[in-house]
Amino acid sequence: KEIVSKNFIEQIIEKDIEEGHCSSIMTRFPPEPNGYLHIGHAKSILLNYGLSKKYGGKFNLRFDDTNPTKEKTEFVESIIEDVKWIGGDFEDRLFFASNYFDQMYEAAVKLIKKGKAFVCDLTADEIKEYRGTLKEPGKNSPYRDRTVEENLALFEAMKSGEFEDGSKVLRAKIDMSSPNINMRDPIIYRIARMTHHNTGDKWCIYPMYDFAHPIEDAIEGITHSICTLEFEDHRPLYDWVVNELEYPNPPKQIEFAKLYLTNVITGKRYIKKLVEDGIVDGWDDPRLVSISALRRRGFTPESIRMFMELCGVSKSNSSVDYAMLEYCIREDLKLKKPRMMAILDPIKLVITNYPEDQVEYLEVPNNQENEEMGVRKVPFSRELYIEREDFMIEPPKKYFRLFPGNEVRLMHAYFVKCEEYITDETGKVVEIHCTYDPETKSGSGFTGRKVKGTIHWVSAPHAKNAEVRLYENIVDEEKGVYNEDGSLNLNPNSLTILKECYVEPSFDGSKAHDSYQFLRSGYFCIDSKDSNEEHLVFNRIVSLKSSYKP
Ligand code: ATP
Ligand code: MG
Ligand code: MG
Repeated sequence: KEIVSKNFIEQIIEKDIEEGHCSSIMTRFPPEPNGYLHIGHAKSILLNYGLSKKYGGKFNLRFDDTNPTKEKTEFVESIIEDVKWIGGDFEDRLFFASNYFDQMYEAAVKLIKKGKAFVCDLTADEIKEYRGTLKEPGKNSPYRDRTVEENLALFEAMKSGEFEDGSKVLRAKIDMSSPNINMRDPIIYRIARMTHHNTGDKWCIYPMYDFAHPIEDAIEGITHSICTLEFEDHRPLYDWVVNELEYPNPPKQIEFAKLYLTNVITGKRYIKKLVEDGIVDGWDDPRLVSISALRRRGFTPESIRMFMELCGVSKSNSSVDYAMLEYCIREDLKLKKPRMMAILDPIKLVITNYPEDQVEYLEVPNNQENEEMGVRKVPFSRELYIEREDFMIEPPKKYFRLFPGNEVRLMHAYFVKCEEYITDETGKVVEIHCTYDPETKSGSGFTGRKVKGTIHWVSAPHAKNAEVRLYENIVDEEKGVYNEDGSLNLNPNSLTILKECYVEPSFDGSKAHDSYQFLRSGYFCIDSKDSNEEHLVFNRIVSLKSSYKP
């Protein structure tokens, strides 16, 4: 592998270590438990975890659960599962920001005592009006000059539940004329009577994100607090909070660009609607890019890690082609997965000169490119299924598969020659009759004549019926992701269900998420929701052809 230059975050960390700002590092992934994780979060997990490994540091999973409105325990569990699956090994370093509510309260009291925070009675609308605009400086609140004693008493009364929701807030006292609007006396605590998933009804005041987050980082000893670009303007406030609270080794915020993928939907609002409208079958529908959807589709943690490495870390927003993710899963599965014969659109082929009751068990390599994967036995008999597209009555030029009078190789088996075909009353071909030449068995060293086409097959009496689901992008960015009314412009072909597929019997014993190459048609995995011993269901992870070259 070629040596990749260090990304800008690694450069910052190395400088901090060199200059003695920290001796080892600590990073964290801080999801809000208000939804399922998606591919973008995977980038943040792998970045933070990867840095901690690279510099011999530690990595925390911390639920940033300071806003009870949208948070649910259900999400806590799915997030833990997803972080582990993707490879963000936080060991026992699992934290909840809500466990720091007492310390956050104490921090607010400390600011009040320093004259750096005040209780404000302006309404939400007034606060907005006083805040000013990018062009206009803000105006001081009339409550800004309350005494420390008064502020302490009022803040305690806020905590004790003496005031109505929304009637008072605690604000940092910074600078109403700052060019950075986030510094214009931001709200740091609000009154809200909401039941919290962890602390129940203990609190009726909750800290705001910009105040809580730096405190969480400082309490845990995070050295580098890595977040996405939209927080760049919040960094001065982050620094203000950790400095005013006088933490001995204040954490440092570093921003990087979010990962965007083409032709996918990540917005919670849109996914929720797709689920409610029954267009997708839950948050883990294989067309989505939540981590659970990627897992169900058949992506592996390795492929996602490879993808993130190819994407790199940058400071400018851009979107990455979905084809690159497909390239990574192909690369990961290519040498690891058995190559099976499966017929997605079957047509019966009868070998008229093959004995009726005979069955041969042919030895077939599991993976032609990886001998270590060994061999398996595949039954061969008089009646087979082949792909409908491998036969044509009137073939175009350069069509080397079956047509009347033509001879092809049945993969790993014999040459067969098409003698006849049978149609139904609509003219549809329902059966192909061939003769085989016993001399031509694969591996027999036969050199008498050559054929140009090789097609795959499964033995009809031995085959297992399977359902196969083929996927396309759920939206097409070239055609426009949104309609005029703001709704999603969905690709009507994003899911194709094939119910009459046949696979070799060797899938016995396969389990959810197991994946395979189906020769000539792609990589497939066993669906974790709908597949069972009686009814095999496969998801196509990706086709074999690639439109992406690294
Ligand atoms: P969403 O609204 O998509 O769920 P979020 O930012 O609200 O995203 P959080 O739970 O706050 O979700 O995110 C946890 C961490 O994941 C944050 O540090 C955030 O910066 C990071 N993150 C979220 N989306 C992306 C993305 N697309 N690319 C990289 N990191 C991301
Ligand atoms: Mg989120
Ligand atoms: Mg968020």
